[in-house]
Amino acid sequence: MEQTLSSPGHAVVIGAGVVGLGTAWSLARDGWQVTVIDAGQPGQGASGGNGAQLSYSYVQPLADPGLWTELPRLLLSRDSPLRLRPQADPAQWAWLLSFMMACRASVSRDSSRVLLALASESREMFERMRREEQLDCHFAANGKLVLYPSVAGLASARRQVAVQAALGGADQHILSQKECADVEPALAHYAGRIAGGVYTPSECAVDCGQLCVALHQRLQVAGVQFLLGQAVLGWHRERDRVIAVRLASGEVRADAFVLAAGTGSTALARGLGLRLPVYPLKGYSITVPVDRSTASAAPNVNVTDLARKVVFARLGDRLRVAGMAELVGEDLRVDPVRIESLKATTHDVFPQLPLSGDLRPWSGLRPATPRGLPLIGRADKGPENLWLNTGHGALGLTLAMGSAERLRKLLRAASAPTSRYRPAPAACSV
Ligand SMILES: Cc1cc2nc3c(=O)[nH]c(=O)nc-3n(C[C@H](O)[C@H](O)[C@H](O)COP(=O)(O)OP(=O)(O)OC[C@H]3O[C@@H](n4cnc5c(N)ncnc54)[C@H](O)[C@@H]3O)c2cc1C
Repeated sequence: MEQTLSSPGHAVVIGAGVVGLGTAWSLARDGWQVTVIDAGQPGQGASGGNGAQLSYSYVQPLADPGLWTELPRLLLSRDSPLRLRPQADPAQWAWLLSFMMACRASVSRDSSRVLLALASESREMFERMRREEQLDCHFAANGKLVLYPSVAGLASARRQVAVQAALGGADQHILSQKECADVEPALAHYAGRIAGGVYTPSECAVDCGQLCVALHQRLQVAGVQFLLGQAVLGWHRERDRVIAVRLASGEVRADAFVLAAGTGSTALARGLGLRLPVYPLKGYSITVPVDRSTASAAPNVNVTDLARKVVFARLGDRLRVAGMAELVGEDLRVDPVRIESLKATTHDVFPQLPLSGDLRPWSGLRPATPRGLPLIGRADKGPENLWLNTGHGALGLTLAMGSAERLRKLLRAASAPTSRYRPAPAACSV
């Protein structure tokens, strides 16, 4: 890891998911002495079994104007990818209300524009990190094919592709049914049931859980300290600064504190009187073993089946299948019905792929904001040395390195002795 010489100080990063580890990498490289604290182990939260897509060109937030018309079907149908289990929790209702407001076309368009810019920075930083660290984590630049069930959907995708092209986005192609099967032969049996697809050759995939484990090892060697299996329980605050975080084993003091604890960020921020608009959006995955005899039945290209909102990513000799979005609070139980649904979708799209062996059923909680924009920067009413890097929702893997870089720049500007510090606007204000 390349590092600058003068140390701006000691930074504590709370959370060893992909966002916290990416932040630790950026800060350590910038000369900070870094301590990462996690209640569990690296990559055990939402980053562990996610859809594995570095989805730089598909950043449209879930809060989409089309959702208004689709919502009754999505919420009422038994095998819908969306599910709401109403809780006696004002935070859930406040989030849902803000989410519905964010579905307005103008808001959704604006969110997409912000996310596209952040995704582009992320691509650059991820590539830099990959070049420097050479991590073993099944990275593949195999492109991405999004399948559209209807002609109307494909027409709207064509418009979106034009908008993104005008914004300087990546090369994208509208494909017919047959062209979809040409790009990804494993789709030969399914292509007749779709209207077509959008193909983006430059999209990538990586095993996010493995990336976290590899990054943890590399950061340790570079001198980053890890306190694992230790939950942050609270804060030691004096006036407008945090002095230390409290663990069961004692306090950890630092100059700056980064809250990158995924869905755990909300409760921790509450301890400082801050209300973060981050709510868990639960999803599921399975990981299908692929051997030499079944290799041609599984896709090499990343595939998204938009009708069922399920993504497929080839990770070497495995196929990751992920999807669903449930507003069910902090419940992390793996619902067998949802797993069966993922298996059924996989069988439908890739019927020749055997679904035997251990499929490693998994669930995770996306730290979602209503607009789909992460919180990067200082909270307006928070302590001056508390920094947020959380709320990345369905795009945390994609946006992690760009968010880390933005935060690094903010911390650098704040710690420069000559600069008169003015907080930069976060991607989403709190
Ligand atoms: C089914 C599914 C599919 C997905 N697919 C994709 C995809 O294809 N592409 C993509 O870009 N994104 C995807 N995502 C989203 C992505 O996984 C998340 O946005 C990302 O993992 C969030 O990372 P994080 O580091 O913020 O949170 P996490 O990975 O959840 O890490 C937070 C860490 O904070 C720790 N923590 C929490 N509270 C405390 C505390 N009090 N003290 C100490 N530590 C604490 C936790 O132990 C945890 O390790 C998907 C998510 C799901 C659920």
